[in-house]
Amino acid sequence: MISNGTKTPARVDRRFRPSRKAELIAGGLIVLAMLVLFTLVRPTSDAASPAAPDWLTYSDFSQDMPTISTAERVGTVTSHAKASDVLEVLGASSQDADSAMDALRETGLLDRNKLAAGTVLTAYFDEAANEGLGELVSVSLRVDSRTTLLATRKPDGSFMTSTLTARVFTGTRRIAGTIETSLADALIAQGGSDDLADDVAALFPDDTQLAKGGRKGERFDIVYQVAEDERGNVLETGDLLFAAYNGKQSNGSWYRFEPSDTGRAEFYSRQGSTQKPLLTRYPLGYAQISSGFGRRMHPVSGLLLLHSGVDFRAPIGTPIYAAGDGVISQMGWSDGYGRQIHIDHKRGFETVYAHMSGFNTQLSPGMRVKRGDLIGYVGNSGTATGPHLHFEIRENGRYVNPVSLKLPSGRSLATNPEEMEKLREQITTIDTLRGATEPVTTARLTTLTIPTNP
Ligand SMILES: [Zn+2]
Repeated sequence: MISNGTKTPARVDRRFRPSRKAELIAGGLIVLAMLVLFTLVRPTSDAASPAAPDWLTYSDFSQDMPTISTAERVGTVTSHAKASDVLEVLGASSQDADSAMDALRETGLLDRNKLAAGTVLTAYFDEAANEGLGELVSVSLRVDSRTTLLATRKPDGSFMTSTLTARVFTGTRRIAGTIETSLADALIAQGGSDDLADDVAALFPDDTQLAKGGRKGERFDIVYQVAEDERGNVLETGDLLFAAYNGKQSNGSWYRFEPSDTGRAEFYSRQGSTQKPLLTRYPLGYAQISSGFGRRMHPVSGLLLLHSGVDFRAPIGTPIYAAGDGVISQMGWSDGYGRQIHIDHKRGFETVYAHMSGFNTQLSPGMRVKRGDLIGYVGNSGTATGPHLHFEIRENGRYVNPVSLKLPSGRSLATNPEEMEKLREQITTIDTLRGATEPVTTARLTTLTIPTNP
Protein backbone atom coordinates (compact mmCIF):
# COMPACT_ATOMS: atom_id res chain seq x y z
CA MET A 1 0.00 0.00 0.00
CA ILE A 2 2.81 2.42 0.80
CA SER A 3 5.80 2.49 -1.50
CA ASN A 4 8.69 4.96 -2.02
CA GLY A 5 7.30 7.08 0.77
CA THR A 6 4.30 8.16 -1.26
CA LYS A 7 0.80 6.98 -0.74
CA THR A 8 -0.82 5.60 -3.85
CA PRO A 9 -4.57 5.21 -3.92
CA ALA A 10 -4.41 1.54 -4.87
CA ARG A 11 -7.50 -0.45 -3.86
CA VAL A 12 -9.41 2.78 -3.48
CA ASP A 13 -12.76 2.71 -5.11
CA ARG A 14 -13.87 6.23 -5.89
CA ARG A 15 -17.47 5.83 -6.78
CA PHE A 16 -18.64 9.36 -7.14
CA ARG A 17 -17.42 12.31 -9.16
CA PRO A 18 -20.06 15.00 -9.64
CA SER A 19 -18.57 15.90 -13.01
CA ARG A 20 -20.20 13.09 -14.92
CA LYS A 21 -23.84 12.33 -15.39
CA ALA A 22 -23.55 8.55 -14.96
CA GLU A 23 -21.65 9.06 -11.77
CA LEU A 24 -24.30 11.44 -10.51
CA ILE A 25 -26.77 8.62 -10.88
CA ALA A 26 -24.34 6.23 -9.19
CA GLY A 27 -23.97 8.71 -6.35
CA GLY A 28 -27.72 8.86 -5.97
CA LEU A 29 -27.86 5.09 -5.84
CA ILE A 30 -25.22 5.03 -3.13
CA VAL A 31 -27.21 7.47 -1.05
CA LEU A 32 -30.26 5.27 -1.60
CA ALA A 33 -28.24 2.24 -0.56
CA MET A 34 -27.13 4.08 2.58
CA LEU A 35 -30.73 4.92 3.38
CA VAL A 36 -31.65 1.28 2.92
CA LEU A 37 -28.77 0.30 5.19
CA PHE A 38 -29.97 2.66 7.87
CA THR A 39 -33.50 1.38 7.54
CA LEU A 40 -32.47 -2.22 7.83
CA VAL A 41 -30.19 -1.86 10.79
CA ARG A 42 -30.73 -0.44 14.21
CA PRO A 43 -28.44 0.39 17.10
CA THR A 44 -28.42 -2.26 19.83
CA SER A 45 -28.35 0.24 22.66
CA ASP A 46 -31.31 2.16 21.37
CA ALA A 47 -33.41 -0.85 20.45
CA ALA A 48 -35.85 -0.29 23.30
CA SER A 49 -36.06 3.46 22.94
CA PRO A 50 -38.36 4.98 20.36
CA ALA A 51 -36.40 8.22 20.34
CA ALA A 52 -34.21 8.66 17.29
CA PRO A 53 -30.55 8.06 18.13
CA ASP A 54 -27.92 10.57 17.08
CA TRP A 55 -26.75 8.61 14.06
CA LEU A 56 -30.26 8.48 12.67
CA THR A 57 -30.41 12.24 12.60
CA TYR A 58 -27.21 12.15 10.65
CA SER A 59 -28.72 9.68 8.20
CA ASP A 60 -31.33 12.21 7.16
CA PHE A 61 -29.13 13.46 4.32
CA SER A 62 -31.84 15.42 2.60
CA GLN A 63 -31.82 18.01 5.37
CA ASP A 64 -28.43 17.86 6.95
CA MET A 65 -26.11 16.94 4.17
CA PRO A 66 -25.66 18.12 0.66
CA THR A 67 -25.91 14.70 -0.99
CA ILE A 68 -24.26 15.99 -4.12
CA SER A 69 -20.93 16.10 -2.33
CA THR A 70 -21.07 12.79 -0.46
CA ALA A 71 -18.69 10.16 -1.72
CA GLU A 72 -18.29 6.60 -0.62
CA ARG A 73 -14.84 5.05 -0.84
CA VAL A 74 -13.96 1.50 0.02
CA GLY A 75 -10.58 0.26 1.18
CA THR A 76 -9.19 -3.01 2.46
CA VAL A 77 -6.79 -3.54 5.33
CA THR A 78 -3.73 -5.49 4.21
CA SER A 79 -0.82 -7.00 6.10
CA HIS A 80 1.18 -3.86 5.25
CA ALA A 81 -1.42 -1.16 5.75
CA LYS A 82 -3.25 -0.72 9.02
CA ALA A 83 -6.76 0.68 9.20
CA SER A 84 -5.82 4.31 9.77
CA ASP A 85 -3.37 4.15 6.84
CA VAL A 86 -6.18 2.88 4.65
CA LEU A 87 -8.41 5.78 5.70
CA GLU A 88 -5.62 8.21 4.89
CA VAL A 89 -5.14 6.65 1.47
CA LEU A 90 -8.86 7.05 0.93
CA GLY A 91 -8.49 10.75 1.66
CA ALA A 92 -8.90 11.31 5.39
CA SER A 93 -6.58 13.57 7.33
CA SER A 94 -4.30 11.60 9.62
CA GLN A 95 -6.00 13.16 12.64
CA ASP A 96 -9.47 12.14 11.41
CA ALA A 97 -8.24 8.64 10.52
CA ASP A 98 -6.82 8.08 14.00
CA SER A 99 -9.80 9.63 15.68
CA ALA A 100 -12.31 7.51 13.77
CA MET A 101 -10.35 4.30 14.39
CA ASP A 102 -10.02 5.11 18.11
CA ALA A 103 -13.79 5.56 18.30
CA LEU A 104 -14.36 2.22 16.56
CA ARG A 105 -11.93 0.47 18.90
CA GLU A 106 -13.62 1.89 21.98
CA THR A 107 -16.55 -0.44 21.31
CA GLY A 108 -14.33 -3.35 22.33
CA LEU A 109 -15.57 -5.26 19.30
CA LEU A 110 -12.33 -4.85 17.38
CA ASP A 111 -8.83 -6.09 17.95
CA ARG A 112 -7.13 -3.33 19.94
CA ASN A 113 -3.99 -3.19 17.86
CA LYS A 114 -4.55 -4.27 14.30
CA LEU A 115 -7.50 -5.24 12.17
CA ALA A 116 -7.22 -8.50 10.28
CA ALA A 117 -5.97 -8.24 6.70
CA GLY A 118 -8.97 -8.31 4.41
CA THR A 119 -11.15 -6.19 6.70
CA VAL A 120 -13.15 -3.81 4.52
CA LEU A 121 -13.58 -0.17 5.55
CA THR A 122 -16.23 1.96 3.91
CA ALA A 123 -15.55 5.65 4.34
CA TYR A 124 -17.93 8.49 3.52
CA PHE A 125 -16.57 11.91 2.67
CA ASP A 126 -18.14 15.29 2.36
CA GLU A 127 -16.22 16.48 -0.66
CA ALA A 128 -17.44 20.06 -0.38
CA ALA A 129 -16.29 20.48 3.22
CA ASN A 130 -13.00 21.90 4.32
CA GLU A 131 -13.01 24.44 1.52
CA GLY A 132 -13.28 21.78 -1.16
CA LEU A 133 -10.49 19.59 0.24
CA GLY A 134 -13.04 17.07 1.56
CA GLU A 135 -13.59 15.70 5.03
CA LEU A 136 -14.18 12.25 6.51
CA VAL A 137 -17.75 12.16 7.87
CA SER A 138 -18.21 8.49 8.71
CA VAL A 139 -16.62 5.07 8.55
CA SER A 140 -18.45 1.77 8.58
CA LEU A 141 -16.98 -1.62 9.26
CA ARG A 142 -18.70 -5.01 9.31
CA VAL A 143 -17.72 -7.00 12.41
CA ASP A 144 -19.69 -10.14 11.59
CA SER A 145 -22.74 -11.19 9.62
CA ARG A 146 -25.01 -9.44 12.11
CA THR A 147 -23.03 -6.46 13.33
CA THR A 148 -21.78 -3.33 11.64
CA LEU A 149 -19.97 -0.48 13.40
CA LEU A 150 -20.44 3.07 12.22
CA ALA A 151 -18.18 5.90 13.41
CA THR A 152 -19.76 9.29 12.74
CA ARG A 153 -18.19 12.71 12.89
CA LYS A 154 -19.55 14.99 15.60
CA PRO A 155 -19.68 18.79 15.20
CA ASP A 156 -16.53 19.14 17.35
CA GLY A 157 -14.60 16.92 14.91
CA SER A 158 -14.39 13.89 17.17
CA PHE A 159 -16.11 10.61 16.23
CA MET A 160 -18.82 8.61 17.97
CA THR A 161 -19.59 4.99 17.19
CA SER A 162 -22.92 3.24 16.83
CA THR A 163 -23.36 -0.50 16.74
CA LEU A 164 -25.82 -1.48 14.05
CA THR A 165 -27.31 -4.91 14.48
CA ALA A 166 -29.17 -6.56 11.65
CA ARG A 167 -32.62 -7.75 12.58
CA VAL A 168 -32.46 -11.51 12.68
CA PHE A 169 -35.38 -13.76 11.84
CA THR A 170 -35.77 -17.47 12.16
CA GLY A 171 -36.76 -19.12 8.95
CA THR A 172 -36.70 -22.53 7.40
CA ARG A 173 -35.39 -23.89 4.15
CA ARG A 174 -36.12 -27.08 2.29
CA ILE A 175 -33.75 -28.84 -0.06
CA ALA A 176 -34.80 -31.90 -2.01
CA GLY A 177 -33.00 -33.59 -4.85
CA THR A 178 -30.92 -36.42 -6.18
CA ILE A 179 -27.27 -37.10 -5.48
CA GLU A 180 -24.88 -36.63 -8.39
CA THR A 181 -21.54 -36.67 -6.63
CA SER A 182 -22.22 -36.56 -2.88
CA LEU A 183 -24.95 -35.51 -0.50
CA ALA A 184 -22.81 -32.63 0.77
CA ASP A 185 -22.24 -31.34 -2.78
CA ALA A 186 -25.95 -31.57 -3.52
CA LEU A 187 -26.84 -29.65 -0.35
CA ILE A 188 -24.15 -26.99 -0.76
CA ALA A 189 -25.25 -26.41 -4.37
CA GLN A 190 -28.67 -25.42 -3.03
CA GLY A 191 -27.48 -23.29 -0.11
CA GLY A 192 -27.06 -26.01 2.52
CA SER A 193 -23.90 -27.10 4.31
CA ASP A 194 -21.53 -29.97 5.02
CA ASP A 195 -22.85 -30.17 8.57
CA LEU A 196 -26.35 -30.87 7.33
CA ALA A 197 -25.02 -33.79 5.26
CA ASP A 198 -23.35 -35.20 8.38
CA ASP A 199 -26.57 -34.79 10.35
CA VAL A 200 -28.52 -36.67 7.69
CA ALA A 201 -25.95 -39.49 7.55
CA ALA A 202 -26.11 -39.84 11.36
CA LEU A 203 -29.82 -40.65 11.05
CA PHE A 204 -28.98 -43.71 8.93
CA PRO A 205 -26.06 -45.14 10.93
CA ASP A 206 -26.00 -48.53 9.22
CA ASP A 207 -25.34 -46.98 5.82
CA THR A 208 -21.56 -46.63 5.74
CA GLN A 209 -21.71 -45.41 2.12
CA LEU A 210 -24.02 -42.56 3.12
CA ALA A 211 -21.48 -41.49 5.76
CA LYS A 212 -19.04 -41.10 2.85
CA GLY A 213 -21.48 -39.10 0.72
CA GLY A 214 -24.09 -41.56 -0.53
CA ARG A 215 -24.53 -43.07 -3.99
CA LYS A 216 -25.34 -41.37 -7.28
CA GLY A 217 -29.08 -41.35 -7.89
CA GLU A 218 -30.11 -41.61 -4.23
CA ARG A 219 -32.82 -39.12 -3.24
CA PHE A 220 -33.04 -36.84 -0.24
CA ASP A 221 -35.40 -34.26 1.21
CA ILE A 222 -34.47 -32.05 4.15
CA VAL A 223 -35.91 -29.11 6.09
CA TYR A 224 -33.66 -27.02 8.32
CA GLN A 225 -33.67 -23.79 10.26
CA VAL A 226 -31.83 -20.64 9.29
CA ALA A 227 -31.17 -17.26 10.82
CA GLU A 228 -31.85 -14.68 8.14
CA ASP A 229 -32.01 -10.93 7.73
CA GLU A 230 -35.04 -8.96 6.58
CA ARG A 231 -34.21 -9.51 2.96
CA GLY A 232 -34.13 -13.27 3.43
CA ASN A 233 -30.34 -13.54 3.23
CA VAL A 234 -29.16 -16.49 5.29
CA LEU A 235 -26.86 -15.39 8.10
CA GLU A 236 -26.41 -18.79 9.70
CA THR A 237 -27.56 -22.34 9.11
CA GLY A 238 -29.34 -23.84 12.11
CA ASP A 239 -30.67 -27.22 13.12
CA LEU A 240 -31.89 -29.92 10.79
CA LEU A 241 -35.66 -30.32 11.36
CA PHE A 242 -36.44 -33.15 8.98
CA ALA A 243 -34.63 -35.63 6.79
CA ALA A 244 -35.92 -38.25 4.40
CA TYR A 245 -33.67 -40.52 2.42
CA ASN A 246 -34.41 -42.97 -0.33
CA GLY A 247 -31.46 -45.06 -1.38
CA LYS A 248 -30.08 -48.49 -2.00
CA GLN A 249 -29.60 -49.24 1.68
CA SER A 250 -31.40 -46.47 3.56
CA ASN A 251 -35.04 -45.49 3.41
CA GLY A 252 -36.94 -43.47 5.96
CA SER A 253 -38.03 -40.15 7.40
CA TRP A 254 -37.01 -38.53 10.66
CA TYR A 255 -38.63 -35.52 12.35
CA ARG A 256 -36.92 -33.41 14.96
CA PHE A 257 -39.14 -33.12 18.03
CA GLU A 258 -38.69 -31.97 21.61
CA PRO A 259 -41.02 -33.74 24.05
CA SER A 260 -42.08 -31.27 26.73
CA ASP A 261 -41.47 -33.72 29.58
CA THR A 262 -37.74 -34.21 28.95
CA GLY A 263 -37.04 -31.16 26.78
CA ARG A 264 -34.60 -33.27 24.80
CA ALA A 265 -34.78 -32.68 21.05
CA GLU A 266 -34.33 -35.84 19.04
CA PHE A 267 -35.35 -37.28 15.71
CA TYR A 268 -38.52 -39.37 15.78
CA SER A 269 -40.09 -41.64 13.20
CA ARG A 270 -43.69 -41.08 12.13
CA GLN A 271 -44.54 -43.91 14.53
CA GLY A 272 -43.08 -41.94 17.44
CA SER A 273 -39.80 -43.70 18.13
CA THR A 274 -36.24 -42.44 18.22
CA GLN A 275 -33.35 -44.56 17.05
CA LYS A 276 -32.12 -47.30 19.31
CA PRO A 277 -28.81 -46.32 20.86
CA LEU A 278 -25.84 -48.23 19.52
CA LEU A 279 -24.36 -48.50 23.02
CA THR A 280 -25.27 -48.22 26.65
CA ARG A 281 -23.12 -46.09 28.92
CA TYR A 282 -23.68 -48.47 31.82
CA PRO A 283 -22.39 -52.02 31.21
CA LEU A 284 -23.15 -52.95 34.85
CA GLY A 285 -26.59 -51.45 34.84
CA TYR A 286 -26.51 -48.29 36.95
CA ALA A 287 -23.51 -48.37 39.29
CA GLN A 288 -21.70 -45.72 41.26
CA ILE A 289 -19.06 -43.86 39.30
CA SER A 290 -15.93 -43.68 41.44
CA SER A 291 -13.84 -41.80 38.88
CA GLY A 292 -15.00 -39.88 35.86
CA PHE A 293 -13.52 -39.22 32.44
CA GLY A 294 -10.85 -36.55 32.06
CA ARG A 295 -7.54 -35.42 33.54
CA ARG A 296 -6.75 -36.56 37.04
CA MET A 297 -3.88 -37.56 39.31
CA HIS A 298 -3.27 -41.23 38.71
CA PRO A 299 -3.93 -42.99 42.05
CA VAL A 300 -0.93 -45.31 41.72
CA SER A 301 1.71 -43.44 39.71
CA GLY A 302 0.82 -39.96 40.97
CA LEU A 303 1.12 -38.53 37.46
CA LEU A 304 -1.43 -36.19 35.96
CA LEU A 305 -2.92 -38.27 33.18
CA LEU A 306 -6.00 -38.47 31.05
CA HIS A 307 -8.42 -40.87 32.63
CA SER A 308 -9.51 -42.48 29.42
CA GLY A 309 -12.75 -43.98 30.69
CA VAL A 310 -15.15 -44.17 33.60
CA ASP A 311 -14.68 -46.28 36.73
CA PHE A 312 -17.72 -48.01 38.15
CA ARG A 313 -17.28 -49.17 41.75
CA ALA A 314 -18.77 -52.62 42.30
CA PRO A 315 -17.97 -55.77 44.28
CA ILE A 316 -15.75 -58.46 42.77
CA GLY A 317 -17.88 -60.85 40.75
CA THR A 318 -20.51 -58.30 39.63
CA PRO A 319 -21.62 -59.31 36.10
CA ILE A 320 -20.49 -57.11 33.17
CA TYR A 321 -22.67 -56.95 30.05
CA ALA A 322 -21.71 -56.00 26.48
CA ALA A 323 -22.56 -52.33 25.92
CA GLY A 324 -23.76 -52.99 22.37
CA ASP A 325 -23.87 -55.47 19.53
CA GLY A 326 -20.43 -56.17 18.15
CA VAL A 327 -17.46 -58.45 17.69
CA ILE A 328 -14.89 -59.30 20.37
CA SER A 329 -11.61 -57.95 19.04
CA GLN A 330 -9.39 -58.58 22.07
CA MET A 331 -9.73 -60.74 25.15
CA GLY A 332 -6.79 -61.31 27.45
CA TRP A 333 -4.29 -59.73 29.80
CA SER A 334 -2.49 -56.39 29.60
CA ASP A 335 -0.27 -54.94 32.31
CA GLY A 336 -2.26 -51.87 33.25
CA TYR A 337 -5.74 -53.03 32.32
CA GLY A 338 -5.42 -56.57 33.77
CA ARG A 339 -8.05 -58.91 32.35
CA GLN A 340 -9.70 -56.97 29.56
CA ILE A 341 -12.11 -57.30 26.68
CA HIS A 342 -12.43 -55.05 23.61
CA ILE A 343 -15.58 -55.09 21.49
CA ASP A 344 -15.84 -53.49 18.03
CA HIS A 345 -19.21 -51.93 17.21
CA LYS A 346 -20.68 -50.20 14.19
CA ARG A 347 -19.76 -46.66 13.09
CA GLY A 348 -16.19 -46.88 14.40
CA PHE A 349 -17.10 -47.40 18.05
CA GLU A 350 -15.14 -49.68 20.34
CA THR A 351 -15.77 -50.46 24.02
CA VAL A 352 -13.14 -51.63 26.51
CA TYR A 353 -13.73 -53.37 29.85
CA ALA A 354 -10.75 -53.62 32.22
CA HIS A 355 -9.59 -55.00 35.61
CA MET A 356 -11.96 -57.99 35.27
CA SER A 357 -11.75 -60.92 37.70
CA GLY A 358 -12.88 -63.41 35.06
CA PHE A 359 -14.32 -63.81 31.56
CA ASN A 360 -17.41 -65.55 30.31
CA THR A 361 -15.51 -68.68 29.30
CA GLN A 362 -17.83 -69.35 26.36
CA LEU A 363 -16.47 -66.29 24.56
CA SER A 364 -13.34 -65.93 22.46
CA PRO A 365 -11.90 -63.27 20.14
CA GLY A 366 -13.77 -62.95 16.85
CA MET A 367 -17.12 -63.97 18.34
CA ARG A 368 -20.24 -61.85 17.95
CA VAL A 369 -21.99 -60.60 21.04
CA LYS A 370 -25.36 -58.92 21.44
CA ARG A 371 -25.96 -55.91 23.63
CA GLY A 372 -26.61 -57.18 27.17
CA ASP A 373 -24.70 -60.47 26.80
CA LEU A 374 -22.70 -61.44 29.87
CA ILE A 375 -19.01 -61.00 29.04
CA GLY A 376 -17.32 -61.32 32.46
CA TYR A 377 -17.06 -60.11 36.06
CA VAL A 378 -15.79 -57.08 37.97
CA GLY A 379 -12.37 -57.49 39.61
CA ASN A 380 -9.17 -55.63 40.49
CA SER A 381 -6.68 -57.22 38.10
CA GLY A 382 -3.89 -55.11 36.58
CA THR A 383 -3.15 -51.70 38.06
CA ALA A 384 -6.23 -51.13 40.20
CA THR A 385 -6.61 -49.71 43.69
CA GLY A 386 -9.76 -51.70 44.38
CA PRO A 387 -12.52 -53.65 42.68
CA HIS A 388 -14.08 -51.64 39.86
CA LEU A 389 -14.84 -51.77 36.18
CA HIS A 390 -12.78 -49.40 34.06
CA PHE A 391 -14.98 -48.80 31.00
CA GLU A 392 -13.90 -46.97 27.86
CA ILE A 393 -15.65 -45.94 24.69
CA ARG A 394 -13.45 -45.11 21.70
CA GLU A 395 -14.84 -43.49 18.58
CA ASN A 396 -12.63 -43.96 15.53
CA GLY A 397 -9.72 -44.62 17.89
CA ARG A 398 -10.29 -41.57 20.10
CA TYR A 399 -11.35 -41.75 23.72
CA VAL A 400 -14.76 -40.23 24.34
CA ASN A 401 -16.54 -39.57 27.61
CA PRO A 402 -19.04 -42.42 28.06
CA VAL A 403 -21.23 -40.27 30.29
CA SER A 404 -21.61 -37.27 27.99
CA LEU A 405 -21.46 -39.08 24.64
CA LYS A 406 -24.51 -38.14 22.60
CA LEU A 407 -26.64 -41.23 22.12
CA PRO A 408 -30.22 -41.59 20.93
CA SER A 409 -32.54 -42.27 23.84
CA GLY A 410 -34.35 -45.18 22.19
CA ARG A 411 -37.57 -43.61 23.44
CA SER A 412 -41.02 -44.39 22.07
CA LEU A 413 -43.92 -41.96 22.49
CA ALA A 414 -46.45 -44.69 21.67
CA THR A 415 -47.53 -44.97 25.32
CA ASN A 416 -47.79 -41.21 25.80
CA PRO A 417 -50.87 -39.92 23.88
CA GLU A 418 -50.25 -36.28 24.80
CA GLU A 419 -46.69 -36.16 23.45
CA MET A 420 -47.68 -38.33 20.50
CA GLU A 421 -50.33 -35.75 19.56
CA LYS A 422 -47.76 -32.95 19.70
CA LEU A 423 -45.41 -34.99 17.53
CA ARG A 424 -48.21 -35.43 14.98
CA GLU A 425 -48.72 -31.65 14.89
CA GLN A 426 -45.00 -31.19 14.34
CA ILE A 427 -45.05 -33.76 11.54
CA THR A 428 -47.99 -31.98 9.88
CA THR A 429 -46.24 -28.60 10.11
CA ILE A 430 -43.01 -29.94 8.63
CA ASP A 431 -44.85 -31.84 5.90
CA THR A 432 -46.63 -28.59 5.00
CA LEU A 433 -43.26 -26.87 4.75
CA ARG A 434 -42.04 -29.61 2.45
CA GLY A 435 -44.91 -28.83 0.14
CA ALA A 436 -43.98 -25.16 0.07
CA THR A 437 -42.15 -24.11 -3.05
CA GLU A 438 -40.60 -20.93 -1.67
CA PRO A 439 -38.55 -20.30 1.43
CA VAL A 440 -40.94 -19.95 4.33
CA THR A 441 -40.19 -17.54 7.11
CA THR A 442 -41.51 -17.14 10.62
CA ALA A 443 -44.26 -14.86 9.44
CA ARG A 444 -46.00 -17.77 7.77
CA LEU A 445 -44.92 -20.24 10.34
CA THR A 446 -46.54 -19.14 13.54
CA THR A 447 -47.81 -22.57 14.50
CA LEU A 448 -44.48 -24.33 14.26
CA THR A 449 -42.96 -25.15 17.61
CA ILE A 450 -39.41 -24.58 16.59
CA PRO A 451 -37.26 -27.05 18.45
CA THR A 452 -33.99 -25.77 19.79
CA ASN A 453 -30.90 -27.49 20.99
CA PRO A 454 -30.84 -28.31 24.68
ZN1 LIG B 1 -10.34 -46.18 35.19
